[in-house]
Amino acid sequence: MSATTDPAQALMDLYCRELKLPGLRKAAPAVAREAAEANQSYTAFLTTCLAQELTSRREHRLANRLAQARFPAPKTLESFDFLAVPDLPKAKVLTLATGAFIRAHENVICLGNPGTGKTHTAIGLALGCIQAGARVRFITAVALAQELLAAQQDYRLPRYLKSWQNVDLVVIDELGYLGLGPGGPLLFQFCAERYERGSLLITSNLDFSRWIEVFGDPSLTAALLDRLTHHAHVLLFRGESYRFRESHERLQEGTGQLPQPPTPSATAAEGGSDGPIPPVA
Ligand code: ADP
Ligand code: MG
Repeated sequence: MSATTDPAQALMDLYCRELKLPGLRKAAPAVAREAAEANQSYTAFLTTCLAQELTSRREHRLANRLAQARFPAPKTLESFDFLAVPDLPKAKVLTLATGAFIRAHENVICLGNPGTGKTHTAIGLALGCIQAGARVRFITAVALAQELLAAQQDYRLPRYLKSWQNVDLVVIDELGYLGLGPGGPLLFQFCAERYERGSLLITSNLDFSRWIEVFGDPSLTAALLDRLTHHAHVLLFRGESYRFRESHERLQEGTGQLPQPPTPSATAAEGGSDGPIPPVA
């Protein structure tokens, strides 16, 4: 803000700092000028001042929550082409994006082949939940398993688990691309602790019947699936890879050459192997 020679304004600036009202501090000179010009009542002026502070707080909170969510890419449901995934119920996805499922402590599970838009939908959905006031954190299954393992090795697992308690929605992306090794039971514990207490949004390229490949233990996997699917909205992403379709169309427009469909090794390079699952180091 520019320096002022008006003592009243300087004092107001000081009070706003002291009272931690940055939105009002920034807007006050213009609001006061406009109020004088429009011959506004004191009540109308004060209401505008408070509204400015409220708007600024909301914007800050949104920006903070977005940063805390650590989305890997800025994706929205507006930019998602639902026609490309005809089996995906758009109305249901939009309803989930209101965040009502979080208040009910329900889960969302996105299943489907690589490149079909699971991560995009998960981010778009979680973004809607942040706008509805939720605290969200996005993390890949492998990164979470590694953090859990590191916490256990440093004897701070209870503290680490506790640090997730104030997150309303945890998005666990890419469950199944890599085996979790010793992190499997810890991820189970993580999910079990959230059961009926907080929400999870999980994306996976593996059908439920193959989750045992990730966790390694049949009874553990069964127990996890039992808890997870008890209050879950399962979204199925059927169809071919959107990435592949886009590059296919680009190539057709350009050289007229047809690309080959992705091979398991090619999808592995983009994190989408369906082959044997290497454990986490
Ligand atoms: P998955 O997580 O299922 O492997 P992604 O969500 O990462 O797939 O999608 C791969 C890329 O294709 C991303 O850049 C994503 O934005 C885009 N994409 C996938 N499906 C769609 C869609 N239906 N509409 C728009 N973009 C899409
Ligand atoms: Mg993905």
